[in-house]
Amino acid sequence: MKDREEILVLEDVWKVYRMGAVDVMALRGINLRITKGEFVVVLGPSGCGKTTLLNVIGGIDNPTKGKIIFNGRDVSRLDETGMTYHRRKNIGYIFQFFNLIPTLTARENVMLAAELVDNPRGVDEVLDIVGLLDRASHFPSELSGGEQQRVAIARALVKNPPMILADEPTGSLDFKTGIKILKVMKEINLKEKITFILVTHNSIIAEIADKVVYLKDGEVERVVLNEEPLSPDELEW
Ligand code: ADP
Ligand code: MG
Repeated sequence: MKDREEILVLEDVWKVYRMGAVDVMALRGINLRITKGEFVVVLGPSGCGKTTLLNVIGGIDNPTKGKIIFNGRDVSRLDETGMTYHRRKNIGYIFQFFNLIPTLTARENVMLAAELVDNPRGVDEVLDIVGLLDRASHFPSELSGGEQQRVAIARALVKNPPMILADEPTGSLDFKTGIKILKVMKEINLKEKITFILVTHNSIIAEIADKVVYLKDGEVERVVLNEEPLSPDELEW
């Protein structure tokens, strides 16, 4: 049985982008509760606000209105320094296109992230967890897409964050590689008790989630709990 304590609560979160004379309402009153250790998939079509949602949760962007309560503390109105600290300490980020630094090796990419926090995990330890220790001295250009994404997962993990956010992490990978990446993330979620929020437009991925949040036009359409989430091995697309 998982600890039912909440790690993240969103209360009426809005994000409005002002584009000249036009207001784009990317998030329109999001309410959401996420429990410690949950694997959450946010599902919705392109443009529905998935990236915006992750960015306001992760402290990359401020919401226009509403509260984001992380471990009991409102992080929606922090100043620049407070946001930077929240982002460094609490959040690991995984992106669709990996965003590794091309002039650094796999190990150096992970080391750089480790230097940002007070109590990082071992660099080689996390490279081992993602199965990439033997390629640690390779540069991103010498690694496949799946391997680069493993480095990115190690980079998120090395900070030892309570929460990892993943924005379309399999979006640029083929099916088989995508499944392997999902497996790595699910294993970390289960073993390390790290809360995951993964956003995607691929409805198949929702089957591995403990909680599925359906997002439509910047609103939560519904939230569904999976009593028995599938293992990534059982997915087909
Ligand atoms: P998704 O990730 O689901 O594709 P996004 O969160 O990227 O959706 O975008 C949601 C809406 O907000 C879209 O209409 C998009 O054009 C708009 N949007 C996103 N980022 C910005 C921005 N920086 N400035 C203006 N509009 C934006
Ligand atoms: Mg997006």
